[in-house]
Amino acid sequence: MKTHVRVLVIGGGAVGVSTLYHLTKKGWTDVALIERTELTAGSTWHAAGLLPLFNMSYIVGQLHKYSVDLYKRLPAETGQDVSFHVTGNLRLATSRERMDEYQKYCGTANTIGVPFEIITPKQVQELWPLLELGGSADMASIIGALYHPQDGHIAPADLTMALRKGARSAGAEIYEHTEAVGIERTGSGEWRVRTAKGGDITAEHLVFATGNYARQTGQLLGLNVPAIPVEHQYIVYDESPELKAYRQGGGRELAVLREPDTSYYLREERMGWILGPYEKGAPARFADGVPEWFGRSLFPGDLDRLVPHVEAATRRVPALEHCGIKDIVNGPISYTPDGSPLIGPAWGVRNVWLNEGHSFGITAAGGSGWQLAEWIVEGEPGIDMLAVDPRRFGAYTSKRYLVKKNEETYRNVYTVHFPDEERPDARPAKTSPVYDKLSAQGAVWGQRYGWERANWFAPRGVERRDQWSFRRTNYFEHVGNEARLMRERVGVIDLSPFTKHEVTGPGAESWLDGLVANKVPTRVGRMALSHALTQRGGIRSEFTITRIAEQHFYVVSAGAAERYDSDFLFKSLPADGSVGLRNITGTRGCFVLAGPKSREVLAQLTDTPLDNTAFPWLTAQVIEAGLAVDVYALRVNFVGSLGWELHFPIEYAHHLFDALFEAGRGHGIGMVGMRAMESLRLEKSYRMWGSDITPDYTPFESGLDRFVRMKKGPFVGRDALERQLAAGVPNRFVTLEVHEVRDADPLGNEPLFDKGGRMIGRATSGYYGHAVQKSLAIGYARTELATPGTELTIEILGERKPATVVPESPYDPDNLQLRS
Ligand SMILES: Cc1cc2nc3c(=O)[nH]c(=O)nc-3n(C[C@H](O)[C@H](O)[C@H](O)COP(=O)(O)OP(=O)(O)OC[C@H]3O[C@@H](n4cnc5c(N)ncnc54)[C@H](O)[C@@H]3O)c2cc1C
Repeated sequence: MKTHVRVLVIGGGAVGVSTLYHLTKKGWTDVALIERTELTAGSTWHAAGLLPLFNMSYIVGQLHKYSVDLYKRLPAETGQDVSFHVTGNLRLATSRERMDEYQKYCGTANTIGVPFEIITPKQVQELWPLLELGGSADMASIIGALYHPQDGHIAPADLTMALRKGARSAGAEIYEHTEAVGIERTGSGEWRVRTAKGGDITAEHLVFATGNYARQTGQLLGLNVPAIPVEHQYIVYDESPELKAYRQGGGRELAVLREPDTSYYLREERMGWILGPYEKGAPARFADGVPEWFGRSLFPGDLDRLVPHVEAATRRVPALEHCGIKDIVNGPISYTPDGSPLIGPAWGVRNVWLNEGHSFGITAAGGSGWQLAEWIVEGEPGIDMLAVDPRRFGAYTSKRYLVKKNEETYRNVYTVHFPDEERPDARPAKTSPVYDKLSAQGAVWGQRYGWERANWFAPRGVERRDQWSFRRTNYFEHVGNEARLMRERVGVIDLSPFTKHEVTGPGAESWLDGLVANKVPTRVGRMALSHALTQRGGIRSEFTITRIAEQHFYVVSAGAAERYDSDFLFKSLPADGSVGLRNITGTRGCFVLAGPKSREVLAQLTDTPLDNTAFPWLTAQVIEAGLAVDVYALRVNFVGSLGWELHFPIEYAHHLFDALFEAGRGHGIGMVGMRAMESLRLEKSYRMWGSDITPDYTPFESGLDRFVRMKKGPFVGRDALERQLAAGVPNRFVTLEVHEVRDADPLGNEPLFDKGGRMIGRATSGYYGHAVQKSLAIGYARTELATPGTELTIEILGERKPATVVPESPYDPDNLQLRS
């Protein structure tokens, strides 16, 4: 066994071996993998081997696509067959909402180049002759289906062996029966891993790919990895006479069948079937770690949980009735609270990488190994990985939270994934101090990064509940009223979840300046919207940096980016002690007070002059407001109306809230929720970090040129920007007015087409602009098609709608309100 390698991968399932393989592909061959027992002994050996290309996430979809393409090439490359049956994959729909979901997915699939077809019931029957189309009291009619002709199923163990062969032939080492039992940092900053059989391996980088063991391996470094497995079972049936007759009659292997509305998948297996449901009530397991005895074991089958799904599947495919059950496989399947894996750096420690939390790990193994290897070798991934970055979760993922959320995610694998869906379990967890006050005003709550956030406010007499939809729905009118309140009078948004850091010390200014593309404010009371870039010039983070005092900066970023940004900032700190950095997210709350009457309201609480000369737009002052002291008043906001963000010491939350409402009563003040904010910010073409501005696009593509100071000196990403300027900026940010919309506004991830029907970009966000009364989208188009006046089309739920590129900021383009 080697005692030193460049990268050590811990865990020999499909995911770990794929990471090893891809590291060698990137040219790093001094790499090794250790596995506590034998390769595939975790979840990999008993997986059903399905490779669904279907995924609602733009990012996960790209990883799955890469895998499917790779697995087709692997046998020729490695000489190891992987039993890839390209049967196609058929997802049935029995409701309009399900068809909407497929159509929404198709937009995403189009933007990432996944081939698919929407087919009719007649075509379903032709593809799958053993299926009943339904239409009786106990079986819903199939109204259509989504068909992926290019995926199917694979043998997971063979796949792992092919990846192993590829990695080993390039020089990688694999040590089985070698369990990692301890990890420590060496004096040189490397990682020394102690193994159970004796002997240490020291490595520059560590990758954790330990499947069901993710929490206990994380604990070796004190990391609370948010992945806990849930039981998942499938039934293996004996030979099916009907299937045998069909196949012997020349029928081709049937497509993998999914009926999400009754929550099961079905595929052929040796002239019989494999039937796998996603049941209600499947328990999370191993919250306290995998017991020593578990090994290559399974849980006993739970027939009661299976029965409703077996009955539904048997009604749809009567051939199931005539074959016996050979086996029930019930194994642990790793889950995270949002169902997506954890791929990327661990937080708080350097050169430790996670490839954990895979619930579709056979499908994702290829893509996750590909991007993680890229990240390790190049220092960053080749595509935007925010949706799978482990740091999208924070410290709030306690054991009980994970158990509840993962069970909830599991039972919802096949429910319709509405864009406005808010799942109820493990809530409320993190709340702003004024949560009860907002509830009293009719808040209809949503959740992000563990925080409760008011999505909208139900007026008295209106039911406080969402009817989730892909289309305009029950809250549309009320959201519109909130948006207009903000534009016409004065509204308050509770944005206390914002991520907040305090940066102090003699080195603060120059350190921050090297991190971001904009110039850090040089004068006290000034602020700058600033972007930290990747080496490729993409946008990794967005910060509003305010200079509170000569050596004191207040740095605000998205609430959901707390761990992501904090980890980045702490890891970037200089070693000389010249900069002090504190995460003060929990110590300050934030109310946005905005609208034409906001000055009159705030003036009642403070003696600080608020007129334009004393307190102009884009400046900040530390003020007293009511009884509250040390309030950072920032004359900016994300809604584009006259107003202030008030960042106050958290202990004043109740007082300030009451004082604002008292002062605003005469002006008709009211609460505004997140959905109205979405409408308001789209009317101003304001980009949202994570969806509109991501590592996939540079600030020039994002139309943020005015926040980039190329001449200020070196900053991360500058060289890449220079290269892009020389070569030409390929895409440009666009604002689109979408025409002929009846009830389905764009929501993001819709493809854009030119007049000739060529796909030339994508929308990254969309909504109805209630003040401008237009359906709006923002996104990216090829540069030559991004000038205002260009006519494009956008595909919304399968329908192509005309759209015009319009100048930025359809509402108040000259910012007159903001400056008023
Ligand atoms: C019944 C069932 C059906 C499934 N069907 C599908 C499917 O059809 N399609 C699909 O894509 N996915 C499917 N899955 C999910 C899939 O099995 C997993 O997502 C995938 O196997 C995860 O691979 P992995 O490499 O991350 O983890 P694992 O395969 O669990 O590998 C982790 C490895 O790490 C090792 N390890 C742990 N701790 C240590 C340590 N300290 N030192 C050394 N080694 C260690 C373990 O021994 C294990 O071998 C299914 C899962 C189940 C339970």
